[in-house]
Amino acid sequence: MTEFSAFGPDFPFAYDDWLKHPSGLGVLPPERCGEAVAVIGAGAAGVMAGHELMKMGLRPILYEAGKFGGRLRSEIFEGTEDVVAELGGMRFPISSRAFYHYVDLVGCESAPFPNPLTPAAGSTVIDLEGETLFARKLDDLPPLYREVAEAYAAALEEGARFSEIRAAMQARDAARVKELWDPLVAAWDERTFYDFITSSRAFSSLPFRHREVFGQVGFGTGGWDSDFPNSMLEILRVNLCGLDDDQRYIVGGVEQVPLRLWRQPAPCAHWPEGTSLAGLNGGATRGRAIRIRRDPANGKLAVTDRWGREDLYEAVLVTCQSHLLTTSIETDEALFDQKLWMALDRTRYMQAAKTFVMADRPFWKDLDPATGRPVMSMTLTDRITRGTYLFDNGPDRPAAICLSYSWMTDALKVLPLEAEKRVDLALAALAKIYPGVDVASHIRGNPICVSWERDENFLGAFKGALPGHYRYNHRMYGQFMQADLPPEQRGIFLAGDGISWTPAWVEGAAQTALNAVWGIMRHFGGASPAANPGPGELYPQIGPRALD
Ligand SMILES: Cc1cc2nc3c(=O)[nH]c(=O)nc-3n(C[C@H](O)[C@H](O)[C@H](O)COP(=O)(O)OP(=O)(O)OC[C@H]3O[C@@H](n4cnc5c(N)ncnc54)[C@H](O)[C@@H]3O)c2cc1C
Repeated sequence: MTEFSAFGPDFPFAYDDWLKHPSGLGVLPPERCGEAVAVIGAGAAGVMAGHELMKMGLRPILYEAGKFGGRLRSEIFEGTEDVVAELGGMRFPISSRAFYHYVDLVGCESAPFPNPLTPAAGSTVIDLEGETLFARKLDDLPPLYREVAEAYAAALEEGARFSEIRAAMQARDAARVKELWDPLVAAWDERTFYDFITSSRAFSSLPFRHREVFGQVGFGTGGWDSDFPNSMLEILRVNLCGLDDDQRYIVGGVEQVPLRLWRQPAPCAHWPEGTSLAGLNGGATRGRAIRIRRDPANGKLAVTDRWGREDLYEAVLVTCQSHLLTTSIETDEALFDQKLWMALDRTRYMQAAKTFVMADRPFWKDLDPATGRPVMSMTLTDRITRGTYLFDNGPDRPAAICLSYSWMTDALKVLPLEAEKRVDLALAALAKIYPGVDVASHIRGNPICVSWERDENFLGAFKGALPGHYRYNHRMYGQFMQADLPPEQRGIFLAGDGISWTPAWVEGAAQTALNAVWGIMRHFGGASPAANPGPGELYPQIGPRALD
């Protein structure tokens, strides 16, 4: 049986099969080989697209304004080699088949992520309204928690024909996926996650407390109340694509994936053996792109970097968050239709903050003599920390603790605060849950924190579509299909988390990067192998449903 993958539901195209096919992704006319393409952003989407474009024989020139890897950012605690703080993506569902294609390609290892109530976490503590519960599995908790889990499962069946769509996705039956999913698009685009919960028979027959607990504890990886105002379509995609299930982390830090992909030679058309993306870029990326315009003299796209150097390209791929085309890159307005500008600017980004510390050792595994339980566990709470995750590197070795991972209002509470103050607040919250544990005495080195909205290269963590945003997403996502665009709008392509259907998941960044690769290949006059049609060949038949 095919492994379950994020197959659709909006565009059920098998990216993993496309990538694996021995015929390759496309062939360029020989006279176009060696031409340069600008890629703005060296995050997952930019590096994956760069890799594939290089393999086709183009020369991707990467521009990066901040840190290589973008939102795959693994900071190593000072003085250690492998104690990692994953500041962006940290848990990767196995259904992310396009992403894992690259993980395997570069030889990175993965291991089960210590999510709540999983064997990898060992134990979990849920602390709500001052009540602290200890559990190893769902059934260790009071019946309320199972009722909440069952109510959500029932709501998904009732409101979204969940099992039927999952079965069609599992069978990779694109026509059936669309038959079931497309009516949901119109039904749920303008309604929120909270509306879905409250209007379901499953939840409306239960007391308010069940909805409240669902918001705090969620359906697998943590509280989801921060997403309650989002369009329900976005949440359905998370569930349908299995994004909240079977998650793994990348050993040594996920940043290794884009870094190795950049450095590792790959077999390429046109380029000699041993060619790597780093090599084609002279070993380093260009800096910040500050301007993109069409040069009237030759019709090419001109990209200017922070230091004033302007280069001309036949094609440009923009992978940074869409609102940066307004705030940080002076972008020729004629390059996009006004309806697309509306979408690029209205795209709504969520906030997220993380606070990490290094501990001397995984002290949390010490057993409390009074209870026989570990002194501390993976913790979900309604307090300011929201989610605390524990990363063990082996006994008597320094370990990492994500003291707090929070979104939206909880992330804003710490936005102006420096790292040490954030740690103080987190420790104060944890002291109420674990009064006998002196976490501070185990801290080594300096804390590592992030607020993605504070960084000018992001201005937010990831997209979180609001009700009514489907049309915007559709415009951005489908922009790689350029055959019908007026000439002045061709040649500039979009990719990345911000235009994907599954924002906040790297699989969406990977899939949109691959769409753009197909679009750029066609822009240069290339063609897909007959045996391996690409996303653009199938888009007219099974592409996302258009709303009027
Ligand atoms: C807090 C957080 C938690 C997450 N958790 C998960 C998770 O657990 N699992 C999962 O699958 N995904 C997760 N994600 C999502 C995942 O990290 C993203 O989908 C993915 O990394 C996005 O890649 P990208 O290439 O689309 O964008 P980015 O990584 O943002 O890359 C774009 C790059 O463009 C650069 N840039 C910006 N402006 C310019 C400019 N003017 N010139 C040049 N470069 C520029 C930026 O610096 C950035 O490096 C998380 C993200 C965040 C923020």
